[in-house]
Amino acid sequence: MYKVIVERQCGCFKRSGEPAEKTFATKDEALIEANAWKDAMNEEYCQKHAFGVVENGDDLMIVMQMRG
Ligand SMILES: [Zn+2]
Repeated sequence: MYKVIVERQCGCFKRSGEPAEKTFATKDEALIEANAWKDAMNEEYCQKHAFGVVENGDDLMIVMQMRG
């Protein structure tokens, strides 16, 4: 199983009601979801944070950086 994990959850993430972790049967699916998820977070959240995807073994971490 491959996991997509949101490493740091800012207030916007908590308000979104999304789970901090999603599990997938294949790495391809996990990669596609991780990239779509972080794109959505970059567009829909407060814009104070920038989200990126980092591989961590079989898992994909969505990491958060402060913008500017
Ligand atoms: Zn935020």
